[in-house]
Amino acid sequence: MAAIILDGKNLAHISEDSIKNEVSDLKNKGINPTLATILVGSDPSSETYVRMKRNTCKRVGMESIAVELPESTTTEELLSSINSLNNNEGVHGILLQHPVPSQIDERKCFDAIDINKDVDGVTCLGFGNMAMGLPAFGSCTPAGIMRLLEHYEIEIQGKNAVVVGRSPILGKPMAMMLLNKNATVTICHSRTQKIEEIIKQADILVGAVGIPEFIKYEWIKDNAVVIDAGYHPEKCGDIDLENIESKASAYTPVPGGVGPMTINTLILQTLQSAQKIKT
Ligand code: NAP
Repeated sequence: MAAIILDGKNLAHISEDSIKNEVSDLKNKGINPTLATILVGSDPSSETYVRMKRNTCKRVGMESIAVELPESTTTEELLSSINSLNNNEGVHGILLQHPVPSQIDERKCFDAIDINKDVDGVTCLGFGNMAMGLPAFGSCTPAGIMRLLEHYEIEIQGKNAVVVGRSPILGKPMAMMLLNKNATVTICHSRTQKIEEIIKQADILVGAVGIPEFIKYEWIKDNAVVIDAGYHPEKCGDIDLENIESKASAYTPVPGGVGPMTINTLILQTLQSAQKIKT
């Protein structure tokens, strides 16, 4: 049977249409859903990501406020910007673009974001709530992956899920989200031994390593659901997907799989934050 393509580009497109309608409904009630983006410094990739996020806001009729701070910004200065956005009632979501320059305490700044406006799911409190199954905005990449799995009705309960990578924004929350859906989860990282033996057991495999095609075709179990979160300039991901149709039961293409769902989830969660405001 042909592998199912988990088409994030298409799902994000469909979702944008419904977000657009809901934004319009909110505006009719006098609420203008607004995302504030904070960019510190001038890293070209970060500039591109922030631009893409603001362009998506525009497409769905949502406001975005761009805060741009110099490379030399201190932790205190960034905290002060975050605080003023926290106190701004017209702002429903705050995105602090990662990474920030090395002199800044990024964790402290993420955690300064008001939990109600943490639409990118970066605060420790948000992570804890999500992990405990309490209401929270999830970290956008893993939350987007979960939406894809749900849309394509991929069975998670009881499956062996292997997440390769344990970053705070991707691998760790991904593992918790799969666990919350009753998968049996293994997390691999740079000190994991016999990684290919573990990956070979994966019914659901998530590549979140940051190394081009790190996960080899031979390591993938027959009929696995293969999720590749990586994206590299050579237009490949973290998994060798060349002949994946003949091995997987379902897979995310690169590009057009996980990436579009990440931005879409950020915009969706900003809308949901604005919808909580009482009219
Ligand atoms: P990261 O912070 O660099 O984390 C990489 C993880 O991979 C770490 O936990 C690291 O382990 C692990 N790792 C590194 N080398 C390894 C090895 N040889 N064997 C096993 N594990 C290894 O990266 P990230 O931010 O999570 O991103 C991961 C990938 O996802 C990247 O390709 C990135 O571009 C992509 N990404 C995509 C989106 C999207 O929207 N599509 C969003 C975010 C990230 P240690 O913890 O032991 O160091």
